[in-house]
Amino acid sequence: MDDPNTPVDPLERTLHTARALVLADLASGEVAAADVVSMVEDSVVQRRWWVEQWPEGAAYVAGLVAQDVQDALLESHGRWPLCPVCGSGDPHALDVEPELGPDPHWVCHKAGVKVASVGSLGAATGGAATS
Ligand SMILES: [Zn+2]
Repeated sequence: MDDPNTPVDPLERTLHTARALVLADLASGEVAAADVVSMVEDSVVQRRWWVEQWPEGAAYVAGLVAQDVQDALLESHGRWPLCPVCGSGDPHALDVEPELGPDPHWVCHKAGVKVASVGSLGAATGGAATS
């Protein structure tokens, strides 16, 4: 179902951006398989309803979609995204912070650092630079 129309509605633009950011992070971790993309779509559908009920939450959508996908992946694929900062010890996932707020970031609670903005994980991990 390709939609050739550029989203112009602010809600559509918000959802479109959230989707693109999370897909970019998934691609950087090389987990953008078809079933994973459908997890993003499912989340976007749910968050569309959510932000229609609460338009002030529009700025939070990207972080929420990232967390939805993270939860869905944990059940089907395992932890995502794995922390690129800590070189030793048990592999652990990054968390989205703030959980409910604008400008979401991936953080490692173990090292106590911000790793990257949601959507910029590829730059932080140095992956996916194949052009
Ligand atoms: Zn870490």
